[in-house]
Amino acid sequence: MSNPKPLEGVKVVELATFIAAPCCCRFLADLGAEVTKIEAPKGDQLRFTAVNEGRPYGDAEDTSYTLENTGKKFITLNTKTEAGREVVEKLIAACDIFVTNWREQPLKRAGLDYESLKQRYPSLVMGRVSGYGEKGPDKDLPGFDFTAYFARSGVLGTMYDVDSMPMLPIAGFGDHHAQESKGLDGQGKPLAPGDLVAVEPGAPCGECEWCRRGEYNLCPNLRFLSAFHDDGCLCEYLAFPARMCHRLPAGMDTLCGAMLEPFAVGLHAAARGGAAPGKSAALVGAGCIGIMTLLSLRLHGVEEVFVHDLSDFRLKRAQSLGALSAGDGDFTAGVLECTGGRGVDIAVDCTGSAAGAYSLPGLCRRGGVCVQVGNIGHDAPFDYYNFYEKELQLRGVFRYRGCYPAAIAAVAAGRVDLRALADRVFPFTESPGAFEYALAHSEEALKVMIEF
Ligand SMILES: [Zn+2]
Repeated sequence: MSNPKPLEGVKVVELATFIAAPCCCRFLADLGAEVTKIEAPKGDQLRFTAVNEGRPYGDAEDTSYTLENTGKKFITLNTKTEAGREVVEKLIAACDIFVTNWREQPLKRAGLDYESLKQRYPSLVMGRVSGYGEKGPDKDLPGFDFTAYFARSGVLGTMYDVDSMPMLPIAGFGDHHAQESKGLDGQGKPLAPGDLVAVEPGAPCGECEWCRRGEYNLCPNLRFLSAFHDDGCLCEYLAFPARMCHRLPAGMDTLCGAMLEPFAVGLHAAARGGAAPGKSAALVGAGCIGIMTLLSLRLHGVEEVFVHDLSDFRLKRAQSLGALSAGDGDFTAGVLECTGGRGVDIAVDCTGSAAGAYSLPGLCRRGGVCVQVGNIGHDAPFDYYNFYEKELQLRGVFRYRGCYPAAIAAVAAGRVDLRALADRVFPFTESPGAFEYALAHSEEALKVMIEF
């Protein structure tokens, strides 16, 4: 017995030509949806491209058309006639998803734009593929691969020799991506008023080399809410990109939501250190980020985490959360003694102090990993001898990337209790008192919170 496909029972109507929109519906058909493609009497232009591709014209040669349209049902309609329009309306009335590459103005004239369709069919999902996107001076112009990016991007100019004829590019590249989606989709739905969210406070540009690599925390154009040039989020209303707002699951309050931020640093540090079950770690600094790193290392299965801090109070709190003691003397000597002279797999500095950073190579086993989390200055000394002789790796941690979903999941599953780590909560109207308290209790205060 074969497994049912995920979109079985979903009805799709395609009123589209050429590649991008039909390709989208081809994927939907592959996933089990019943796709009905509406074609004009003269046929989709893609049926006739074989000649351009150096092959004879004929139904057996329309490979591009077949590629984009396999698995669909087909109906030929003249949408310029009343009768044709009536059939289109009937098909849309009976479907779940409507996909088109018509331009906005013709859709409006036909009463098939999203605003009009939404009135008649509130649950309809609509996808519209356009040549030039939703905004900008050319948004209403028609455009396919050749005009929209081959010609206007300048790519064509790179594909022929000087004094020769322009080249007609056969294979497309970079297509299948420009589209606009509207309506209800069940998942990834728009945030609604009243939804509780955790704001991941760094909004990357999404365009630069690092954003494209997925290393968006390294984006040089990142807007970060606690950076010096930013007004931050100590305000009643904050405008921030929805993509950086993570919806909190039922039962998780905003206090936990705010604590996800330092927790995300810890998760990123554990990941950068290669934390895994069976490994051991040494952690210098048991302030807020140190504690979050401790929790994250343990969450990744690192049972043996030795922690050092100059404050007994902080040290005891770390030990109450699962940290091991390396004795009362020199931390490095204690760790080496506890590990039979081997050292640990992962050594992490969360202090940003010269002494903390310097100690990392001495704490590591041969071939281990040093992780610098604490903000450190340019000119701190480093134990290069141990670093080179043990063939260590040194990895930096700058905030986090992609850690919020895992952080939310860990809290929701009860695997960490972030709420218990918030020492004192002040109401918004007493914000100055919160800062004074944090300054006066810097040793024992892990995280002082302001609630709105
Ligand atoms: Zn960027």
